[in-house]
Parts: sequence; C-alpha cells; structure tokens
Amino acid sequence: MFYPQEFDVIVVGGGHAGTEAALASARMGCKTLLLTHNIETLGQMSCNPSIGGIGKGHLVKEVDAMGGAMALATDEGGIQFRILNSSKGPAVRATRAQADRILYKAAIRRMIENQPNLWLFQQAVDDLMVEGDRVVGAVTQVGIKFRSRTVVLTAGTFLDGKIHVGLQNYAAGRAGDPPAVSLSARLKELKLPQGRLKTGTPPRIDGRSIDFSKCTVQPGDGMPGGTPGAVPVFSFMGGQIAHPRQMPCWITHTNERTHEIIRSGFDRSPMFTGKIDGVGPRYCPSVEDKINRFAGKASHQIFLEPEGLSTHEIYPNGISTSLPFDIQYDLVRSMAGMENAHILRPGYAIEYDYFDPRSLKSTFETRAVAGLFFAGQINGTTGYEEAAAQGMFAGINAALQCQGKDSWLPKRDEAYLGVLVDDLITKGVTEPYRMFTSRAEFRLMLREDNADMRLTEKGRELGLVDDARWDAFNRKRDAVSRETERLRSIWVNPRSLPAAEAERVLGKAIEHEYNLLDLLRRPDVDYAALMSLESGKYVNADLAPVDAAGVPRETSAAADLARSVIEQIEIAIKYAGYIDLQKIEVERASHYENLKLPADLDYLQVSALSFEARQTLAKYRPETLGLASRISGITPATISLLLVHLKKNL
Ligand code: FAD
Repeated sequence: MFYPQEFDVIVVGGGHAGTEAALASARMGCKTLLLTHNIETLGQMSCNPSIGGIGKGHLVKEVDAMGGAMALATDEGGIQFRILNSSKGPAVRATRAQADRILYKAAIRRMIENQPNLWLFQQAVDDLMVEGDRVVGAVTQVGIKFRSRTVVLTAGTFLDGKIHVGLQNYAAGRAGDPPAVSLSARLKELKLPQGRLKTGTPPRIDGRSIDFSKCTVQPGDGMPGGTPGAVPVFSFMGGQIAHPRQMPCWITHTNERTHEIIRSGFDRSPMFTGKIDGVGPRYCPSVEDKINRFAGKASHQIFLEPEGLSTHEIYPNGISTSLPFDIQYDLVRSMAGMENAHILRPGYAIEYDYFDPRSLKSTFETRAVAGLFFAGQINGTTGYEEAAAQGMFAGINAALQCQGKDSWLPKRDEAYLGVLVDDLITKGVTEPYRMFTSRAEFRLMLREDNADMRLTEKGRELGLVDDARWDAFNRKRDAVSRETERLRSIWVNPRSLPAAEAERVLGKAIEHEYNLLDLLRRPDVDYAALMSLESGKYVNADLAPVDAAGVPRETSAAADLARSVIEQIEIAIKYAGYIDLQKIEVERASHYENLKLPADLDYLQVSALSFEARQTLAKYRPETLGLASRISGITPATISLLLVHLKKNL
C-alpha cells in the first residue's frame, strides 16, 4: 500500500546520523519521516559507551552549536567527563565523556518524539522508489510505500552486514540486529560505487567478576582524585542540565601471557585467515592486530569503562577482537583484576558495505540519484560523532533542497564539518575515516570553545536554533564584546600600578602605559591575575566568581557563562598572532606547487606528521609538494607541516 501521507524528507536509519538528520530537517520545517528497524534502538551506541575525544569532540560541539542533539544527550547521560589535552593549546583541547548508554538513548528518543514535524515509523526499508533519475520514496519490508521528495540514507554498519567470531560468521547489522540485505542489493543495482569495510568491538565483562583493587582508578574531571574544578559540560546549553552521578574508569594491562594467548589464536582469526576482506579502522585496531603489528610491545593499556549507572556491564576499551570465543575467554582472564572475569557478550568484527563518498555531490546528495542523500558510516567513516555531524549536514541540505533554497556548504576554515565533507568527497576513503585535529589546517580557528561563535548564527538563519539557545548565545557574544572593550578601556601606568603590585601579578614592573587587554596578551598573565590587580579593583561584577549575594557561582548557569566568556577573551587575545600566522602559512603552501621533494627524504622520521601521513608519503614518494598535496589522505595541514620540516632541515 501507499502510505496516505507524503513527506519532504525520509530518513532511513535511527542511529547517530539518522537522528541528527531527522531532527535537523524537521526543525527546518520540513515534514520528516524517520524510518528505522527498531524504535528501541534509536541513538544506540553500537560500540564504546563514550562520546567525544580529540577531533570528535570538536564535531560534537559544532553539531550542538547548530542545535543538534548529541551534546545535550551526552550531558544528560554522561557519567564521566574529561577535558583531554587540557595542558596543551586550545586548538587540540577536547571534551570526552563516558555515557550511560540507556540514559543517552532515552534522551535521544525523547528529543525525537517531541520534535514537531517529525514522524517515526518502525520497519526495515528494503527498497527505494526511483522515477527517472530521482528518488521518490522508500518501501518497507512488508511493502508499505512511503513517498517523499528526498531520502537520507544512514544505514550504518547494516548494509549486507556480516558478523565474525573466529571462523564462524553470520549475517547481522550489529549484534542482536538484522542486516539490511535487500536494500544493499537495491543500491548495487543503482550502480553506486561500493566497497567493504570492517570494524570490531570487545567482549563485555560483568563488573561483579572484576577485582578493581588490582586496577588503577581513573576519575573524571571534577571527581575526587580527578582534575579539580567543575565537571565539564558538552553542550553550550549544558550549564542548564544536571549530569547524573559520576563514575570512575579503571585501567588494567595486557601482558606477555595475554599476547601468547592471542598469538595462539591467529590460525583461527578471520582477519589473518582471509575470511574478512573489509579494511578496518587504523586507529581502533583489534587487539590481535596490535599484537601482530607491534610485536615488540610487552603490554597495552586497557581501560575498563562502565556502561551505565544501572548495570554492572563493563566495556574493556582496547581489546576489540574477532578471535574465537575460547581465545577471548583466556585473554580476558590473563589480565590483572580479570582473573575471574565473566564475559557477558562476545567480541566480534563486522563487515559491511559502504559507498565511495567521491560519488557524492558537495551536499552529500548522490550524483547518480537525485534527491538521495547518504550520511554516516555508509560514507566510509567510523564513529558516532562523524556520523552525527554528517547526518545533520545531509538533513540540512535535503531540507534546503525541498525548500528550493541554496545548499549549506561550510568551508574548511569554518568548521570541522567542512573539513570532514571536503575530505570525504575529494579524497574518498581507503579505510574507515575518523576525525583528527591534524586534518584541519585552520585548527586554531576551529576550536571546541568557539564552535558556537562560528556556527550558531548560521544555525539560527537555517531555522535550527531555538529561542533559548539563541538568547544564551547572544548573552555570551555580547558579554565577550563588552568585556573585551572594558579591558581595552582600562589603562594602567607605572604610577597607577606600583612596582610591587605589578611584580606580584605580572612578574615584573611595567615600564609604560598599557591597557588590560595588552597585559592579557602576555603568556604568564591570565584573566584571574588581572582581576586580582590591586585587590580586585578591575573585577567585572557580571563575571565575578560570586554572585551579587556573595554566593559562589561554582555550578550555576552564571558561572558557566562567566567561564566561557573569560575563556573566549583569553584565547582570542593570546592566540591572535598565531592564528594570523597560520593563515599566512597555509596560503603560502599553495605557492609551493612545484617544489621538489628530496628523493631520499625519510618520511617515517618526520615526527611532526601524523603516522598515517608518514606512511602514505613513504608509500607514494611524491616528486613535488604539489603532487603530495593531492594524494588521498594528505591534508593541507600535512603540507604545511612538511613545508616547515623542509625549511628547517634542508
Ligand atoms: P548506526 O549507528 O549503525 O545506525 C544505523 C541505523 O540504521 C540503525 O538504527 C539501524 O537499525 C538502521 N537501519 C539500517 N538499515 C536499515 C534499513 N534497511 N531499514 C531501517 N533501518 C535501518 N566506531 C568508532 O568510532 N570506533 C569503534 O571502535 C567502533 N567500533 C564499532 C564496532 C562495531 C561492532 C560496530 C557495529 C560499530 C562500531 N563503530 C565504531 C561504529 C559506530 O557504531 C558507527 O560509526 C556509528 O554508529 C555510525 O552511525 P550511523 O548513524 O551511521 O549508523
């Protein structure tokens, strides 16, 4: 039957890409249908119960800045938060959270169910309706035909998915879920260029069978024993959401015995016996891959991550494996604290179809079928965050197409999302693609902390940002500009700032007149130091650490605002010079097209480059910098770093 209603946008798949795509298109006013296998698995984390990390956290903040769901759901379900690289520069600082997967899913489902213009329907999609060269809807397993003007396909690891445990394998989309076989066959018929990739997951452990006293505890930020201060938040609206109870993680290690056990299973490994054809993610290798590739390493760290507050289940991060179950059992029990471990779910690898993203337009619409958009793992990426960002992007562009408006195409210097899309459509993938800060040449501009400053206004213009977020954003933006001007307008000179006071705060006396903004430029001077000048004479009451009644603002929304305003001002002023230099350097790199690269250059030793870039350059040995820049996987950032290396060393 034809379903009686027609839709603007049908989104197939309720994972991280699909939920963001559906929310975006519905928020933009398009009549949207989210068709997915199972409503219970909306927003399901197929693998690790964590969100964010370096590069990935940046994407989550960008999705959030445009009104997306991932950061809000993480704040609501997050049981441990950490700021990674907190002692490094702001470009590479990143938020990472452990999430209670049940709370996370519940938050996503609630947002989906309460979104106006968004309809949900549970059924497998087996076919697409195509008229001429245009998609006109989707057909479900029981033959229900839904008509629509556009379709966004976000089928994740499900297309012709095949699970491997040792030499056993079976068809599945992920453990416990069916594969999408008919849809995969239909897409092959449409002659979309396709390949196979694989990914894997570790066995899960019953926490009651682990002796945590033999492991090292790893608390989150703001927890006893962790980095002092408030527990971080993910969303720019996060100050208004209370996190649930926080939990620590633990660390154990593999050892020589573990490695022996793993090696003893190589002859029954689907990876090493040729049962798996798909290429796996380089940066999330299986434990057998690690032992094989880094044979000299005596031990690997394994993080024991809680899966939630209402379960004992533990995710042992670092032992993803598709070895036979008997080997999994022994390898788990060979590690400290795990001697009596009970495995709740076996680890496995999954192979699935992906489609070459070079066959997509810059909007993620397929070139072959008008109105058909792809987003998420189907485009050859890996990770919830990469999927969410792509989903939002495809959802926006599908909606814009329905509205007859111009597409939204963020540039590489505007957003990690711009980098992600540009990388995918120009370079394609040879292995599951994940985001790193090293992929962005303008990374000092594309920080987590300023994602809202870069994108919220655009989000509002597109209809994605609601009034509450828009008000909060404007309050912050106004406060940043007011405080910047205030600091610029306050002058101190050797008479008004006695030498002893200047030495206490600035490290030395000042020799002439400065405004406070100029003083803030100094590497050792932070905002708090300036405010302590002459016992807080220059404190701004709005940003003070106590409110008007003298109550500490540690956890209030006002404290959040104050922190983020101060952070923006400090970073903008301290890094202004570097940001300008970076722009010039990247621009200059484009002039080095014909620069000859030394034939004997040992790329593997160029430590400034990522491991992936070093391997690729060593493999292809390009003759010129221009040729190097066009090799798949070599980013403009790599070219800049290579140029710096050449200048220094040759
Ligand atoms: P998914 O989250 O897979 O969601 C796809 C959705 O589409 C599901 O809801 C599914 O039910 C639905 N669907 C599919 N086909 C149909 C259909 N025909 N009809 C209706 N609904 C359909 N990422 C990492 O970053 N690191 C890792 O180590 C890692 N390991 C992983 C291990 C395993 C075993 C798996 C399965 C995934 C792993 N991932 C890992 C990948 C991560 O889960 C994905 O990157 C992410 O979930 C992709 O999001 P998505 O929205 O594209 O797809």
